Amino acid sequence: MKPWQWILVSMIAALITGAAINATCVIETEPNLVFNSVGTKLIGAFDYVGTLFMNLLKMVIVPLVFSSIVVGIAGLGKTDGFARLGGKTLLYYSLSSLVAILVGLFMVNTFKPGLVNGQPNEAIRKQFEANEEQYAGMVQGKLAGQDGGMNAVTDLFLRMVPQNVFEAFGANNKMLALIFISLLTGIGLIFISAEGRNPVLQFFEGLNELTLLITNWVMWLAPIGVFALVAETSAQTGFEIVKLLSKYFFVVVGALLTHAFIVMPLVLKFVAGVSPKRHFYAMRNALLTAFSTASSSATLPVTMRALNQNAGVSERVSSFVLPLGATVNMDGTALYECVAVMFVAQVLGFEMAIGTQFTVVMLALLTSIGVAGVPSASLVAITIIVYNVGIPNAEAVIGLILAVDRPLDMTRTAVNVFSDSCAGVIIAKSEGEDVLAGDTMES
Ligand code: ASP
Repeated sequence: MKPWQWILVSMIAALITGAAINATCVIETEPNLVFNSVGTKLIGAFDYVGTLFMNLLKMVIVPLVFSSIVVGIAGLGKTDGFARLGGKTLLYYSLSSLVAILVGLFMVNTFKPGLVNGQPNEAIRKQFEANEEQYAGMVQGKLAGQDGGMNAVTDLFLRMVPQNVFEAFGANNKMLALIFISLLTGIGLIFISAEGRNPVLQFFEGLNELTLLITNWVMWLAPIGVFALVAETSAQTGFEIVKLLSKYFFVVVGALLTHAFIVMPLVLKFVAGVSPKRHFYAMRNALLTAFSTASSSATLPVTMRALNQNAGVSERVSSFVLPLGATVNMDGTALYECVAVMFVAQVLGFEMAIGTQFTVVMLALLTSIGVAGVPSASLVAITIIVYNVGIPNAEAVIGLILAVDRPLDMTRTAVNVFSDSCAGVIIAKSEGEDVLAGDTMES
């Protein structure tokens, strides 16, 4: 079997294992699942292994992003066309997220998952009212550790320029600063003397090769890491709540799949003139990793490797487009924010006039830029939008949807990563690169 087939098999085995634990080890379901000691131990073990795998991936991010941006820019020895590349990337990112939000808005208005016969769903109302305090508490707890949303948007430039160069290398959420320092280094190298440039460039070329190799090694462990992450999620999913929210669940998943399997493939085919099927195949490892980790940041090394090695996108394009994309371009998240807010409004019987819906679209677009590429990060953005459009007492409903968030997070993260990878292919193609050609898809 090929590595990606191992990952797929372990994902399916994990779903079954998790469901078995869920069926046999749960001793309490309201408002959160409580497990017996066997279940708790198993989940603890999955968590341990899953975290280890995520850490291995995150560990590669800083040297990989730094070295590949420097090599991508300085290696070419010219800055021509750089502004053009930036312009195209930003244009793609804003348009693709906007289209994703509109797909979500269309679906939530068509299927109205929060209503039954035009009235707010009674069963859902009873559920969140019965556990109002716990649900609101869950939201507060999650919000406390998160950073993102509107402030993150206005602080974008402040976050980009660190006071101290080494801050950019400190933590994963300093990605914008890391991109900025890498760009400065890459561009700067072009302008210094050859004696100064060559050894530095050579160092970064070596570092880049090395980090890609380490990513390869980490991916050998992917079947184990993925098993742990997916089994943990599947064991911890409250199937009762999923059943109660099934319409909402399917509207979110349906909208995400429409964007990924209909809209984006049309763009790939008609704008870039490449085969969507080939692109999906080239990105298979990245999509599976995004789905299992629910973190576009942690997936970044795998996405970079797949786009370079399988899709044949140059380092110049991928090193710029992907780290930026993993930080600011979140089609799945933007779509999800819009559907979630509309759902909350429907459940609470809050009228959403067309002007208010327009505000939701704009806020979803803006806040998705600030959302970090980590699990359940969009919760902050959803809360901000709900406050801004003035939906009262929304916290308990947000807490209720938080109970089914992880599987939806996995799906939207895969869509986030897929959209970034499409940007890579579309932009590379527009720059005259021969992408997705030949049979370079061996890993
Ligand atoms: N988990 C998502 C990501 O990493 C962010 C979110 O929507 O919560 O891309």
